[in-house]
This record gives sequence, structure tokens and C-alpha cells, in this order.
Amino acid sequence: MFRIYTSFVNKIKNTLQFFLSFLLIHSMSFVDLHNHLYGSITAKKLFEIGLNNPNPRWTLFTNLYNKLYSKEFKTESFFEDYEDLEQFKNLYFFNKPAPFIEFQSKFNLIIALSKFDEEEIRDVAKDIVAEHAKQEVAFAEYRLMYAPNATREVYESKTIAACEGLQLGEELSQNTIQARLVMSLHRDGNYLEQYEWLKELMNERNLVRKYLVGIDFCYIEEGFPPSEKKSFFERVLRDNEENPHTAVSILYHVGESFADKTPKSAARWVGESALYGAHRLGHSIALGINPESFADKTISEKVSERLDQLQFEIQHYEKLKYFGITMDYAKLIQEVNLLKGKDKDSQISFVINKQYIDELHTLQEFLIYLIREETKSVIECCPTSNLYIGMLPNMEEHPIHRFVDRNLRVTIASDDPGIFETTLKREYQLAANSGLSEKKLDQIEKLSYLYTSEKL
Ligand SMILES: [Zn+2]
Repeated sequence: MFRIYTSFVNKIKNTLQFFLSFLLIHSMSFVDLHNHLYGSITAKKLFEIGLNNPNPRWTLFTNLYNKLYSKEFKTESFFEDYEDLEQFKNLYFFNKPAPFIEFQSKFNLIIALSKFDEEEIRDVAKDIVAEHAKQEVAFAEYRLMYAPNATREVYESKTIAACEGLQLGEELSQNTIQARLVMSLHRDGNYLEQYEWLKELMNERNLVRKYLVGIDFCYIEEGFPPSEKKSFFERVLRDNEENPHTAVSILYHVGESFADKTPKSAARWVGESALYGAHRLGHSIALGINPESFADKTISEKVSERLDQLQFEIQHYEKLKYFGITMDYAKLIQEVNLLKGKDKDSQISFVINKQYIDELHTLQEFLIYLIREETKSVIECCPTSNLYIGMLPNMEEHPIHRFVDRNLRVTIASDDPGIFETTLKREYQLAANSGLSEKKLDQIEKLSYLYTSEKL
């Protein structure tokens, strides 16, 4: 009888909690700090953009889509064939867990259909800001990326157009929303030069100085260790100190996709990015993912990556061991000596056993501590994106729960709400449904105002 009574009380409690979080989320004003401008385009808007584009770059979309889904397109009648918006949505929406390449095939539809000229950028920025204002977003930072070979002229004219569009969107929404711009740079491009162009533009134009607030690195992260960006980060941070009126925050997608290395190295990349000065870290799943999820898997990485990991564990050994089970110190030294003579580009494989799982847990705990205590970095959690691209099994397994438990600075964001068919409100609701209390969500929402690029 007592058990029946307890389960009844629990049911009422859960329903009440769900109802309260529902009420809370419907009365919030949201801050979206991780959002890609073109990934926010709705299906309806993208169709219109394509229809008005005399020369869509079809092959950018059709080749990969055909390869992945064996689907042929008649490009000459595309807009008649997909006139029904529901059909077009099926092509565009990325709404199930799948590898990054499938997400890319959907994003390619945006690249293929858009002209990406100044007029369109201005119009897209204006529309998206107005749309998000309607969804009760009060502050948003939008990331924008140009082609890797974009010239200085393009950088200047498109950045100005984007800022004008954001301003128009704010005006259209009676300034109930503040919109800001973040330029995403190519990890392997001439980012230093592009950064300098942006800084000069900020010096020349009040509009750009007001709206451009950060730089970001996104897209494929495999093959681009944060250590390569260390001196660039130092340069940006120095400039920020010397010229605070044109300061930009450093945002960095890291620990989202890490097929090329072991989970320990992936977690270390997140920690290194924070220690080098990234203000906000995109996704950082590797920092908090459940180590048990790798059990019995065989994972490889380059000898050079393994050496970096061993050196990191040696360097921090005294503190690391305080957080749990680690590799034995003598074994760390022994393996370094063994690997030193090997080809650094050759691969080394591991079966993830119990010992490795424990070591990974210890390393994650240590890195979480470092990020919280020795940096000001904020983790950007994007629930839907992490469930689909990050392929987490469910929201209950999302590392946001661990981050919140450990008092890490966390914000909830929408990433590419257009392709994911989501809103920021829905992202908060997903977090609520997975057990984050209304008190915690309220805290995340309020503290997110302190994590904007302008305040960092
Ligand atoms: Zn992103």
C-alpha cells in the first residue's frame, strides 16, 4: 500500500515539475549564443531563395545527396517537383541521428540554393532576427562563414551587409531583440589575415564595431588540434587588451566530432582550447560524455596524438591523480620512451577496457575542474544538434547534466534551428524533459546574459 502511495505521489510530483518547467520556459526571454545564420533559414524561406536564384549551384547539393541516398533530381523542374512544402522539408530537415556527412548533405542544399550575395545576406539576417524575436529570443549571436578563398573586398562588403541586416531585424522587432555577428574562420585558411581585415573594418566603421563581437572556428575539427591555434589566440587576447573598443571574443567548436582520436585526446582538446583562451566552447561533448559509452570499442589515433596525451598526463600527474584512477606514472614514462622512436603519423589502436574507462572519467573530471577554476570558458550545449550530429543516445545521457552538477558555466543554444526544425524554446524544453530542474534552467537562462561576447 505504501509503495502504491509513494508511486502515486511521485507521479503527481513529476507531472507538477513538468508543468512548472513548461510554465517557466513559456515565460522566459532567451539568449542564443550558438547559432549559424544560414543554418537558421526556415524551409519556406530557403525555397523562396532558391526560386529567386537564376543559377543555383545544383551539383553542390545533388552529388552528395545522390551518393548518400541514391536519389536523382531533375534540376530543371526542381521547384515544381518540390512545390509542396512538406516534400521540400523532407529534403531539407536533418531530424534523426546520423553522421556529420549527412548533415552536410542537408547544409549543401542551403549552399546550392543561395546566391550568398550582399543583398541576400542582408535580407536573410533581417528575417531571421525578426523571426527569433517572435520566438522570445532577446539576444542572439549569429555566426557567418565565407568561402575559404574570399577576398578582402568580399569580407568587407558581406560583413557590412550582415551587420545592416541584423540592425534592420532589430528595428523590425521594435528592438525587443539584440542581434550580434560572429565571423567563422576556416581552420586551415588564412585566418590571421582575415582577422586583421575584420579588425581594420571595425576601426573604420561604427556599424561593424557595434555588431561584430566575435570570431569562431567551426566545421570539421578532426586534423586541427587547438595547439595549432595557440599563438593566434594569444595575439587576439593581446589585441583585446590593447584595444578594448574593437575586442572580439574567441569561440571554438571543439569536442563535437572526434572519430580520428581516442576519447581521452578529444577531452584534452576541449581543455586545451579553454586554457588557450577560448571564451566559449561549442558542444564539447567529449568533455562530459559517459565514458562507459565507449566500452569494448577499438579506437585508433596517431602516435603523435598519443604522445601529446601521455605528455599531458605526465605534466599534470600530481593533480590528475587526485580526481581518480590514472595511468601509473612509470607506465606513462615507459610508453613515451617506447613511442618516441616510432613514425609519428602511424596509427596506434586501443580496446577501451575498464581501466581506460576509469582513466577517461578521471581526466574529464580534472579538465572540468581546470575549465571551471582556471578559465572563464563557457560550454555551449545544443541539445538537438548533439542528439542528431553528436549521436548521443538520448537527452538523459547529454553531458549538460554532468556540467551543471559540476557548476561549469553552461548555455543552451540552437546551432542550426532551420535545418533541425527547432527553436531555442524547444531546446530548453528538451533539457527540462530530461530532468534539468526549473531552478537550474532559470539559472542557465539568466547567466547566459553574462556569457555574451561583449561581456567576456
Ligand atoms: Zn555550430
